[in-house]
Amino acid sequence: MQPLIDSFGRQIENLRISITDRCNFRCRYCMPEEMMQWVPRDEILTYEEVERLARLFVRLGIRDIRITGGEPTVRKDLPYLISRLHMIDDLESLSITTNGFRLKALAKPLAEAGLTRINVSLDSLVPEHFAYITRRNALNAVMEGLEELEEYPAISPIKLNCVGIRGFTEREVVAFAELARRKPYVVRFIEFMPLDADGIWREENVLTGREILDMINEAMPVPLVPIPTDPASTSRVYRFADGNGEVGFINPVSEPFCATCNRIRLTAEGMLRTCLFSVRETDLRLPLRDGATDEELEHIIRAAIWQKELKHRINEGEFFQRANRTMSQIGG
Ligand code: SAM
Ligand code: SF4
Repeated sequence: MQPLIDSFGRQIENLRISITDRCNFRCRYCMPEEMMQWVPRDEILTYEEVERLARLFVRLGIRDIRITGGEPTVRKDLPYLISRLHMIDDLESLSITTNGFRLKALAKPLAEAGLTRINVSLDSLVPEHFAYITRRNALNAVMEGLEELEEYPAISPIKLNCVGIRGFTEREVVAFAELARRKPYVVRFIEFMPLDADGIWREENVLTGREILDMINEAMPVPLVPIPTDPASTSRVYRFADGNGEVGFINPVSEPFCATCNRIRLTAEGMLRTCLFSVRETDLRLPLRDGATDEELEHIIRAAIWQKELKHRINEGEFFQRANRTMSQIGG
């Protein structure tokens, strides 16, 4: 089988599938407080449609699938979908990204369904700060969900994603580093990207990975040392020199990794996006519902991937064009 390849020679192996644009949080860097326009339910891919596309993508060379949203846990029967995708031969990694709010109830069924990897978003360890950034008073529920996850070692590692926002995140960087030493969690800081609904992103609000790394090294008794990672990996991973605790940095703004990007995304309504910052997308739902064969879908997918964007232009001033959707509508 020909690999999935774009016109710059990048081989695509990683697919993020959004299963809903809805969410029970309203994070300020992602969604507006209200007035969100939801995709009508009949336009959202059914689990059967998701599975059919996932199987096809894996046959074409995708090895890593992450289920995301919106908030994937607000969609009914998520463990059922996981159990179906878990059975796909040749899929090497199946994971979800969640805000953690429903994990206390879902950790067990997700583990039983075969989930082995998870990313939980957590931007603050202080209840008031958490409530400010997510617009929900829910820190306790997320921390209980994380505790529950620890009961299922098959789901490992537990990665925590924290968006680095200047003026907000600095005061908790050290607390997150201490958490990474105290708990079996890999803490990862993600640079704030211009994918928020309210248009509040400014370059000067991006707290860079480098700055956070320096803050940690200055405050902690043990320094962080880099761990070699796969070149296609988005994150730079460090371990404390005494071997106790891991911290990662995803730096799409200050250190773009477009040259090795092997990722594509499928939105909840079945639009294929070849870059987070795409301004065009390819409809897979229409042909799927019109009865297209796998060969016909393959042709559409290969043509879309061939046109994958060279890079984002966040740092190119007037050349930067905001994506036509927010992070929650794309599937981060
Ligand atoms: N609701 C789930 C969650 O929050 O984990 C999954 C979807 S969310 C869109 C996926 C990831 O995107 C989260 O880790 C979130 O922090 C991140 N994200 C959302 N908006 C972002 C932005 N403007 N810049 C950087 N990361 C962002
Ligand atoms: Fe919801 Fe995730 Fe966006 Fe927060 S980041 S509003 S939890 S989709």
